[in-house]
Amino acid sequence: MDGSLPVDPLTGSPAEVRTVQPYQATKRYLCPGCNQDLEPGTGHVVVVPRGAPDLRRHWHRPCWEHRQRRRPGRARAQPVNRRRGQPPGPR
Ligand SMILES: [Zn+2]
Repeated sequence: MDGSLPVDPLTGSPAEVRTVQPYQATKRYLCPGCNQDLEPGTGHVVVVPRGAPDLRRHWHRPCWEHRQRRRPGRARAQPVNRRRGQPPGPR
């Protein structure tokens, strides 16, 4: 598309960022920016890596906007959702 997508620090891939309105947030998620819960009913963003929509993560909006302040390199937030027993898919 336009090549201006932000980079998801968790996957290193360009990612599409979608806004989730409070009324759309019906589940609880773990924000990878701060490792804290995203409560249902909280407006936030979903970061969907290009080509890896299964690795999408829900972030508090401020956490996403400040993601570059996080330490680069190894985050301790290994994506929990990946450990749900899904096999390592083909690339
Ligand atoms: Zn957060």
